[in-house]
Amino acid sequence: MKTIFEKNNNTGGITLTDEDIRPDFIDEKFLRETSCALPDIGELEVLRHYKELSDRNFCIEKGFYPLGSCTMKYNPKVSEYLSSLDGFANLHPAQSDEDCQGALELMFRLSEALKQITGMNAFTLQPAAGAHGELTGMMIIKKYFEVKGETRKKVIVPDSAHGTNPASAALCGFEILPVKSNSKGQVDIEDLKAILTPDVAAIMMTNPNTLGIFEENVLEISKIMHENGSLLYYDGANFNAIMGYTNPKLMGFDVVHLNLHKTFATPHGGGGPGAGPVGVVEGLKEFLPSPVIDFDGEKYFRNYSIKHSIGNIRDFYGSFGVLVKAYAYILMMGKNLKEASENAVLNANYIKEKLKNYYTLPFDTLCKHEFVLSGEALKQQTGVSTLNVAKALMDKNTHPPTVYFPLIVHEAMMIEPTESETKERLDEFINVMIKIYEDATLNPEKILSSPRTTPVKRVDETLAARHPDLNFKN
Ligand SMILES: *Cc1c(COP(=O)(O)O)cnc(C)c1O
Repeated sequence: MKTIFEKNNNTGGITLTDEDIRPDFIDEKFLRETSCALPDIGELEVLRHYKELSDRNFCIEKGFYPLGSCTMKYNPKVSEYLSSLDGFANLHPAQSDEDCQGALELMFRLSEALKQITGMNAFTLQPAAGAHGELTGMMIIKKYFEVKGETRKKVIVPDSAHGTNPASAALCGFEILPVKSNSKGQVDIEDLKAILTPDVAAIMMTNPNTLGIFEENVLEISKIMHENGSLLYYDGANFNAIMGYTNPKLMGFDVVHLNLHKTFATPHGGGGPGAGPVGVVEGLKEFLPSPVIDFDGEKYFRNYSIKHSIGNIRDFYGSFGVLVKAYAYILMMGKNLKEASENAVLNANYIKEKLKNYYTLPFDTLCKHEFVLSGEALKQQTGVSTLNVAKALMDKNTHPPTVYFPLIVHEAMMIEPTESETKERLDEFINVMIKIYEDATLNPEKILSSPRTTPVKRVDETLAARHPDLNFKN
């Protein structure tokens, strides 16, 4: 496909007169001398160009998107409308508190809702994403021990953890201690006890973990950690599994991040925007980033007097538009958030049970909102790897699941259907997966040469990351 610059044909979108381009109020010295090389194309061709580009994208509105750990649920369009209302979209973040009481109230109320949902005592809405929330949380933990006068240099992370967990802790200067998973796919308590030393600051966990399995020993883990004077960090990216059923406070966690762009139905992918609010227990409130949004009984205001604040970790208050969408979603759902989790868990278990006779299920147990299959046996028998299965799905108008993660399962396929899908869609996906399995067994060539219907076929999986070339050369 040609770029818009290559399509330039001087057929004239608009013609600007000298008066248009040289208004008197612009100082001569700022005016360019040569024309800039913008493409000049009629409206119809411009529309076709961008329509063709957008057709190349895959999105939740186009088909099933079981991308494990990412919770690609439906994002209600009304949230989009609400966040674009004039009073929200055109506020300037530098306006005074009096000028933006409505926006401050919305942020305050969102924090209150998140407090209820997680059991935490206070929230910051600043972090821009999950990983940014992790970093914020680890900075809070670091500062907590600094103020206490304790030197704790280590953070424990399960070997099934999302890669951002050890990365965030390392970025804060912590040394990472991996803890093993046991045969049930859960944190191995004996291994945890063996590596625990007095200089461990925290453990970072998600529950259900990245295998979609609920850590049944979480209370024992929190007891062991707290007795050691350590804190517990909860990666809330898997919150879609537990809303209304339990919360990180009940499990004994001290710091939590949520991915509003996963659980609370705001669009994501393509790099953002997102929001990763961080909640803390009472004893860590004084370390939150400043300002936090407060209410004095009459007015909402930005509170900068936070005793041991780690400082500001994002300009202004974070991704405000995302906060509006998440708040609208929470209000629309109300008590049904619990039902959303129920259906997310039911859908995952339904697919798991239907597929486990074809692909290997390494941990055969009730899962939460997602589960992990292994394509190892299939690869041994047919030469068709998980990567090939993923490519074949693309020919069936289906986004591939997350593959090769978590690292503890070979040839992993991590499937998360979410609550948004109908039974017909789930069945369609199950049938497609079975068909791919059968093709792999009988006619592997067919799978090895996919995808055949996408605009770009097989790509080098690492070249784009290692040697990005983002320039268009005419
Ligand atoms: C998505 C995810 C993260 C990181 O969140 P981002 O918003 O992508 O930065 C962390 N942990 C888990 C388990 C996740 O699924």
